[in-house]
Amino acid sequence: AKYVYDFTEGNRNLKDLLGGKGANLAEMMNLGLPVPPGFTITTEACRHYLTEGALPDGLEREVAEHLDALEAQMGRRLGQADDPLLVSVRSGAKFSMPGMMETVLNIGLNDESVHGLAKQAGGNDRFAWDSYRRLIQMFGKTVLGLDGDLFEHALDELKGRRQDTDLDAGELQGLVETYKGIVRAQTGKDFPADPREQMRLAVMAVFDSWNAPRAILYRRQERIPADLGTAVNIVAMVFGNVGNDSGTGVAFTRDPGSGQQGIYGDYLQNAQGEDVVAGIRNTIPLQELERIDKRSYDELLQIMETLENHYRDLCDIEFTIERGKLWMLQTRVGKRTAAAAFRIATQLVDQGLITLDEAVTRVTGDQLAQLMFPRFDGGAEKKKIAKGMNASPGAAVGKVVFSSERAVELAGRGEDVILVRRETNPDDLAGMIAARGILTSRGGKTSHAAVVARGMGKTCVCGAEELEVSTSERRFTTPGGEVVSEGDVISIDGSTGEVYLGEVPVVDSAVVEYFEGSRPDDDLVRAVDRILGHADSARRLLVRANADTPEDAARARRFGAQGIGLCRTEHMFLGERRQLVEDLVLADGEEERQAALDALEPLQKSDFIGIFKAMGGDPVTIRLIDPPLHEFLPDLVDLSVKVATSPDVTDKDRRLLAAVKRLHEANPMLGLRGVRLGLVIPGLFAMQVRAIAQAAAEVPGARPEIMIPLVAAVQELESVREEASRILAETGVEALIGTMIEVPRAALTAAQIAEAAQFFSFGTNDLTQMTWGFSRDDVEAAFFSRYLELGIFGVSPFETLDRDGVGRLIRIAVEEGRAARPDLHVGICGEHGGDPDSVHFCHEVGLDYVSCSPFRIPVARLEAGRAAL
Ligand code: PEP
Ligand code: MG
Repeated sequence: AKYVYDFTEGNRNLKDLLGGKGANLAEMMNLGLPVPPGFTITTEACRHYLTEGALPDGLEREVAEHLDALEAQMGRRLGQADDPLLVSVRSGAKFSMPGMMETVLNIGLNDESVHGLAKQAGGNDRFAWDSYRRLIQMFGKTVLGLDGDLFEHALDELKGRRQDTDLDAGELQGLVETYKGIVRAQTGKDFPADPREQMRLAVMAVFDSWNAPRAILYRRQERIPADLGTAVNIVAMVFGNVGNDSGTGVAFTRDPGSGQQGIYGDYLQNAQGEDVVAGIRNTIPLQELERIDKRSYDELLQIMETLENHYRDLCDIEFTIERGKLWMLQTRVGKRTAAAAFRIATQLVDQGLITLDEAVTRVTGDQLAQLMFPRFDGGAEKKKIAKGMNASPGAAVGKVVFSSERAVELAGRGEDVILVRRETNPDDLAGMIAARGILTSRGGKTSHAAVVARGMGKTCVCGAEELEVSTSERRFTTPGGEVVSEGDVISIDGSTGEVYLGEVPVVDSAVVEYFEGSRPDDDLVRAVDRILGHADSARRLLVRANADTPEDAARARRFGAQGIGLCRTEHMFLGERRQLVEDLVLADGEEERQAALDALEPLQKSDFIGIFKAMGGDPVTIRLIDPPLHEFLPDLVDLSVKVATSPDVTDKDRRLLAAVKRLHEANPMLGLRGVRLGLVIPGLFAMQVRAIAQAAAEVPGARPEIMIPLVAAVQELESVREEASRILAETGVEALIGTMIEVPRAALTAAQIAEAAQFFSFGTNDLTQMTWGFSRDDVEAAFFSRYLELGIFGVSPFETLDRDGVGRLIRIAVEEGRAARPDLHVGICGEHGGDPDSVHFCHEVGLDYVSCSPFRIPVARLEAGRAAL
């Protein structure tokens, strides 16, 4: 195998092999942009190293050959004493994992070559020693695994109240000695002076960093497969820390927060790359580079335009200026907020760079769902205590915590928390995941907190510099003098950057208002409207709603539902009607039972009338009553206590207790529910069907569909169907009669069941429960986190449909059901109907529709469109 590619050999389509960074460096090289020369070690080499525990045969020879070529091209050898070539060793996986893996800069420096470097830079000793101390610091931390604080503290002690740029050559030389002492004390060995050895160790450290705990956590969060491995890029060093005519920065071709066009980025003079992200010194806005170095600035803008036109998308960029010469160190299609994604997609259509079809594929259902989150009520009274940068939008309210551990702890107890830090680093990842929002007092829109929060869709305000954050005292102080301590509640607005004391009430987002029928004049709403409209015209799947009240039905319709796919009838038996259900259960003989049913029937009828009216002429699938009867009866313990202790126990109480005991089940979800209930309690289903038929007869255009739950055998369905057909015939109302497929046996005998069913609707909640044997109400809390950790699945099968198992049953049922009855109508009504990946699956297996809760309807519409394109 070939394990090493020169930048001139790669291109952007080779991300699997070269990682995102390597592939895009090669692409920029091909575009003729100023990229320092270098080469990439493939992800395949990493995978080999991680599984076999050793570098693959031939890799070291290939690396040596490429290094020889690089040295020849540069006219200097790695670490050459009088004129050294230095390199950086940079991680870069297929998917960007910001800050999660390692990078080592300035490889090739030692006690001799440091002088050569100073000479190269025109006698700049300060720069050379600064680079050398950076090497030992990064190498010590990432390659030798030493505690980074050891170095940080030594640096802080030396600096005192000064900035790192105030240290002179002599001081930095002294710092190098201190650092070498730390390495010796901690490892018992000297810092390795041999440049090639430094490089070899750094490469292995980058490979190893694929499995660093924070990288594992990040991958799980972002659903990145665990076995991809990272590539390693070896790049000739260019230096941003030579002096004030040098520097380093990051830039976006558009605002990744809002999507607005313009110049967005941060620049740091006299610094190396890691300083920007780490927030060591405060950066300046990129626009100010124009004043400092107009030539480089103009060239950068030119390059940004080239990259946008080439990638036809927002790009983010890392660059370095070395003594007035601009170098590109990285580019990629940049992460962005949900709002930016929609705006940018339509801007690119208007610019003629992409088609509307492509625009639909550039946004996701998850992003649309984010735009539907509530925002703070503009009219509410609020106490603003600070303003930072609007790094990642949303409205978050929670208790303040100052460490990742506390965030995880409190969130584990169900509390909403806001993680407050001066700045975050990759070790804060667990806390960022646990928190509702993140607030930092340092760092810009490209800081770690901002980048990671945007990627996760988590609300973030960063760089609120007026706040004095003291992590050790677990509090922060506002310019107004308020002290906010751990546990106090604050509200942060990631769309404006504002921070409020206390809880601020939230209201609907503009996008939800738009779905509700108002037409706010807002460019985001226009972008959503355009993209969703195009998705609608592209999709094959119909989208229906799970709704069981007229209000929900009406909202679902406003959100674009084309019918109701699941109207559960259980809730219609609660509240005041509980009494009637009790009467039904206690009924002694035919007459009493019928009386109880007769009392329920008009109530049910009016329920259905309301829903039919709300849905106009769209189909409404009504599911006959499903869950176990005891859910409608009093609690066994409560009732036992009452009967045993209360002075005024009635005879009814005693009979009720006997019934509750009789009906008590060890495994209710596998017990007397669904069709079984209908078969056991004579007249119950008939009453519901009559109510449906009479309601339909009163609402012109009503299109009822009757759905029987939990069927496992065609015989169950047959007997219910016969009775229902008879009642429909009596009332002269037409309605399809079909069944849910939610028991594995039903899927496996779909051909038989289709003989008696005009439609199938997959109840994937129960189907998942019964296929895995997972109690849907218990397992997520009990052990799913362990299962996720073990990688048994990457995401809960109750959230995203398990294609291999549950999905296989669905395929069988669709195929065999349709073979038996070609016009069989097939949909899904489990929670998966609103999950993006599951919607794609439903499209692939040829379902006719998905049905989901009203708020997921727009998501399902968009994803159904994306699946079809
Ligand atoms: C299902 O099981 O997927 C379903 C929709 O029914 P319920 O959730 O009411 O059991
Ligand atoms: Mg079910």
